[in-house]
Amino acid sequence: MVAVMKMFGDLHIHMILDGVYYRAAIDAQRDKPRDDLIRARLSDYQARGITFLRDGGDAWGVSLRAKALAGEYGIDYRSPAFPIYLRGHYGAFIGRGFSDLSGYRALLAEVSACGGDFVKLMISGLIDFSRPDTLTEEGLPPETIREAVKAAHDMGFAVMVHANGDRPVNAALDAGVESVEHGAYLSEETLARMAETRTLWVPTLSTVGNLIGSGRFPDAVLRPLLAQQQEKVKFVASRGGRIGLGSDAGAFRVLHGQAAEDEYAYLTQALGAQTDAVLQEAEQYAKRTFKR
Ligand SMILES: [Zn+2]
Repeated sequence: MVAVMKMFGDLHIHMILDGVYYRAAIDAQRDKPRDDLIRARLSDYQARGITFLRDGGDAWGVSLRAKALAGEYGIDYRSPAFPIYLRGHYGAFIGRGFSDLSGYRALLAEVSACGGDFVKLMISGLIDFSRPDTLTEEGLPPETIREAVKAAHDMGFAVMVHANGDRPVNAALDAGVESVEHGAYLSEETLARMAETRTLWVPTLSTVGNLIGSGRFPDAVLRPLLAQQQEKVKFVASRGGRIGLGSDAGAFRVLHGQAAEDEYAYLTQALGAQTDAVLQEAEQYAKRTFKR
């Protein structure tokens, strides 16, 4: 028998997505989570020696079902139930929306009632891969971000934010979020602040790197962006910041299981000899933090 090596966990996955086409993947589980699909993915993680997963959530209960089954595969699985977004902003394809603070509080109560481990908030747009230095939107008003994070904290939840760009990330840091996901196009000032506060940064380099050569977006945008993000990862680590391995598995060309290895390779290019020590510390932090 071949010994299974202990791998780092993946701190950012979407069990519902398949790395191929999000609409079809969601349609497959829209009526009801599919145990056959979920078990196949959990079993693959197990075979790779991955024992810790943190899901970004979905509106159809797939990540919660995965959490319920994960113990059978020796996997410690954390779920926010569903990601929460402000209506009119990014997140409608996978999350549940609110229009005002009372609607938001009702969603928090639901996360609590269905056993969510933490809160996932969408506070910015996406990288626009078709052109350099561009996001699909500016993101939520800083005041809304601060209020939303505070309300989640008041209920005893840690908060994971999907965030790109200086303005949303700074508002998130003001509010004391526990992790920043993606974090594209951040200034040196914001990066230094993230390091200083030791906020977990999960840069999801696979979502950029794995697109190279796909033909969907210009490699002339993707290659410099990956290199730039790797430089920033190196910078934050050099300031004593906290960098976590999270691939965004399920996103386009980011395949469950395999993506943890892809992400590890991208992070190693950035962090060199200190990679394992940095990732290890971040994983321990995530394990003790992203639960109620
Ligand atoms: Zn994600």
